[in-house]
Amino acid sequence: MGRTVSVEIVYRGIFQKTLAKNISRGVVLAARRGGKVGIAFGRYGDSPERNGVPAKNFAIVAPDQDELELSMAQYEPAETDVTIAVDDTLCKGVESWAWYGLQPINQKVRPDGVLVVTSTLPADAIVEFCHRKPFPYRLAVIPAIPSFSGLWVYKNDHTDVRVLGTLAKVCPELVSLEAMLAAIKEEWKDDLKVTSARRAYEQTEVRVVRPDEGNPEVPYTFTLPGWTAMREGVTVEGMPLGAPMRVGGEVGGYRPARNPYFKKFSTRTMRPVVDFEKCVKCTLCWLQCPDGCFDVTPEQTYDLNADACCGCGVCAAVCPVDDCITMVNEAAFTDHRSQWERYKADPAAYAAWVRGMLAGQSERSHGFRYRGQYQEQIAKLRAGAGGEGGGE
Ligand code: SF4
Ligand code: SF4
Repeated sequence: MGRTVSVEIVYRGIFQKTLAKNISRGVVLAARRGGKVGIAFGRYGDSPERNGVPAKNFAIVAPDQDELELSMAQYEPAETDVTIAVDDTLCKGVESWAWYGLQPINQKVRPDGVLVVTSTLPADAIVEFCHRKPFPYRLAVIPAIPSFSGLWVYKNDHTDVRVLGTLAKVCPELVSLEAMLAAIKEEWKDDLKVTSARRAYEQTEVRVVRPDEGNPEVPYTFTLPGWTAMREGVTVEGMPLGAPMRVGGEVGGYRPARNPYFKKFSTRTMRPVVDFEKCVKCTLCWLQCPDGCFDVTPEQTYDLNADACCGCGVCAAVCPVDDCITMVNEAAFTDHRSQWERYKADPAAYAAWVRGMLAGQSERSHGFRYRGQYQEQIAKLRAGAGGEGGGE
């Protein structure tokens, strides 16, 4: 008979929308070949998934129609057998459009469920990003370059079928490898995609994550007031004014006050790094940043507020000085420390850190161009990730 299996795909809106759709659709097509029924759907259909705001797709597979309809009484599953993060930087947490406060990537993963992540990082490094859970679960890492398979531009980089091949490995009760490969062949009519799925099946590493492993930070929670406790009308509290920056003995510049709960960084796959020695104080980054993320330092340079930055890259594009602002893969960072404070504490060490960041840049996926491309790239990237790898 079997039971109902829930799969969640977490992706960055627009940039990875096609990828998420392909995965959820592939799950259902393969499950049907195994005699089951299923449905694939997105949580959002339009504007909330603009830009890189994290969004979700789901695939629910049940042994028969009655079971499927029963599970669909709830719009989205309360817990998942598999949660897929199509980009390793999503493991730091996601703040979507429809809720308030950062949520762990593994929030819905049930006991012994599995979190599937595409990454060139080792599993241990990904565990460090993920919030702790009170029970063991599994982490499956597909050796892959995070993909931008978007709404407007479809990067056919095989990430979709690689994830599908891995699903057959980590959740055989959902679908067999044979059924998955047959569904891929029928849907895409491409033997190379079938090969990619099989390779992912063979190469994916799976490890158990214990309750004492991972990010110990307590996720943001809130309690909805009952209707008798609600205030009359609606009030939006104003933001307080900002204040000068203070570092050591230096006081000056301006740091605006920001919403302490709303963390826009979960939209980000890349983070700007500022080389303060090169900055000519032209103000362009500060003026052009659509999210007002820069604090003015006492030296009138501009310091990134890493909680507020959505990673759009506008600042790096408008900065007139070569290599003064560089976009770096978010996976290279372990905290949100002020770059300027770090620079002031030790300018020489900061310069070395910036150089390391630039040297350790890892590629984002921009398409499948030739046979064997991924095997070459991933081996190279993984060899690089063994060292300091540009990490903090
Ligand atoms: S990447 Fe640059 S311009 Fe974009 S939100 Fe971040 S600081 Fe602002
Ligand atoms: S755009 Fe570049 S040079 Fe201009 S203030 Fe910003 S960091 Fe400095």
